[in-house]
Amino acid sequence: MEEEGGEEYLFKIVVIGDSAVGKSNLLSRFARDEFDHNSKATIGVEFQTQVVEIDGKEVKAQVGVGSRKHIIVSSDNLVSLIGGGGAFDVRRVSSLNEHAKFVNKEVGIYAHCDTTVARMLVGNKCDLENIREVSVEEGKSLAEEEGLFFTETSALDSTNVQKAFEIVIREIYEKVS
Ligand code: GDP
Repeated sequence: MEEEGGEEYLFKIVVIGDSAVGKSNLLSRFARDEFDHNSKATIGVEFQTQVVEIDGKEVKAQVGVGSRKHIIVSSDNLVSLIGGGGAFDVRRVSSLNEHAKFVNKEVGIYAHCDTTVARMLVGNKCDLENIREVSVEEGKSLAEEEGLFFTETSALDSTNVQKAFEIVIREIYEKVS
């Protein structure tokens, strides 16, 4: 997705997942280095643009967060979706099961777009180590089965948030450049 001039890239990335897994806070931590303790569950789709430098090139990442329902309803977003990530909450195994539905090849988000080139699974809220329901191994093995990158993050203490987005952005960059 190279734009005129040959130096600028714009990638769209969508973070999907069950309500309250921390999607909005992952985005605000990535884009503004902020965390909101009182954030309300995401309604609809939020987009934010962040500039990242990869191999000396400026890459604009337009990151959207939302539930599958909202993202699929809004087909404009899907047409240009070239990266995709899913987040679940390590405290709730149900949020991981929901994730499996989101990314299912036949009915999930990837069935609605043919341009996805990088996918990642993120287990968020890893700061809450003592009350987790999903182990690192469980997250990792689901990601492996589906051919996804995997990492655990904490939007609260910033662990791996930047890294997770950069993995997706770099992967897209390597495929399109
Ligand atoms: P969304 O509905 O998936 O967008 O979730 P939000 O970003 O609104 O977060 C839902 C709730 O989880 C809020 O109360 C956040 O403060 C909290 N939260 C989000 N990320 C983290 C995290 O990494 N660690 C902890 N402890 N809480 C988090």
